[in-house]
Amino acid sequence: MFKEARIKLTIWYVVVTMLISVFFSFSIYVRVINDLDRGYRRLSVVYHERGGPFGFFDEAVASEQFEHSRRNILITLLLINSGILVLTGTAGYFLAGRALKPIQNMLEEQKRFISDASHELRTPLTSLKTSIEVGLRNKHLDVPQSRELLRDNLEEVNSMQVLTDDLLVLSRPSATNGKISRENMSLDLAVEESIKKVAALAQKKDIKILYAPTDISAGISIPADEKSITQVFVILLDNAIKYSKMGTQVQVIAAQLPGSVSVKFKDHGIGINPEELLHIFDRFYRVDQSRSAEVVDGFGLGLPIAKKIIEEHGGKIVAESSPQSGTVFTVTLPLNSK
Ligand code: ADP
Repeated sequence: MFKEARIKLTIWYVVVTMLISVFFSFSIYVRVINDLDRGYRRLSVVYHERGGPFGFFDEAVASEQFEHSRRNILITLLLINSGILVLTGTAGYFLAGRALKPIQNMLEEQKRFISDASHELRTPLTSLKTSIEVGLRNKHLDVPQSRELLRDNLEEVNSMQVLTDDLLVLSRPSATNGKISRENMSLDLAVEESIKKVAALAQKKDIKILYAPTDISAGISIPADEKSITQVFVILLDNAIKYSKMGTQVQVIAAQLPGSVSVKFKDHGIGINPEELLHIFDRFYRVDQSRSAEVVDGFGLGLPIAKKIIEEHGGKIVAESSPQSGTVFTVTLPLNSK
């Protein structure tokens, strides 16, 4: 499809360039021939009326010379136009390739996204379908069993809802829906709010989240969309808990830097090895969990969403990690709006 488009674009480049070139060549040709013709006539008149230096004018030689010059001009123009044709053909093909490359990349990325999303949706859907079919086939299904079945189904539906919500955020041009408010939000409140949201999960694993706002961090306010920034903090805290062992600690440290603020989320969990660390912000990327003790739920969309939101605010998110000793995610946000 792209090869065809590239060839078509090249043809258009060549046609437009050749039209311009032929138009100018034709004008040059007509102009030069007219000038030559006028000069030849004037010379002939001068010789006939007043007589030239040799007293005669050879019409045949002059007309042969005229024809020779005309042919030379024609050949030169034809050669120049052939050169332009070859040059624009080659350059046009190259330029068309370059012009189409970003579109090609975007389409391929979109195709990958749709295929990954369908793949992720198919798993819970298949499990839901199987569970309903088995339930329907069981003629002796009693009320407690039916409730159990419905509960399982609801879990699958909830998980699909999370996935579709995440997919929507990633597919929209703006993760914040253009809601980066011009009003400042309190960084401290966003951290507190996100800690509240993951409190139940942390309690389940007996993980303590340590956050002590200092005088400086308590006063930090930034131009940002509070809901989106809280969402990022929840993603990072949720991961810190998910990928840590029971009874460990997670620290949140906020600090003001020149022109920006930083918030660090430090855990003492399973960590990420260097090769995998390069990909954790890619959509649907999940570190291979076959070697870890517990399998953790997730779709590999949390970090890409966090990155999208932070970058939309003009900030940065980076991760440092060493396997088995823990991970630190640092979010940096500008103090002034873009
Ligand atoms: P998921 O839904 O799988 O958690 P994310 O995009 O949030 O998706 O994270 C991508 C992958 O990065 C995770 O599957 C996990 O392997 C790894 N990861 C993220 N945060 C941490 C962390 N704090 N400690 C260890 N691994 C992490």
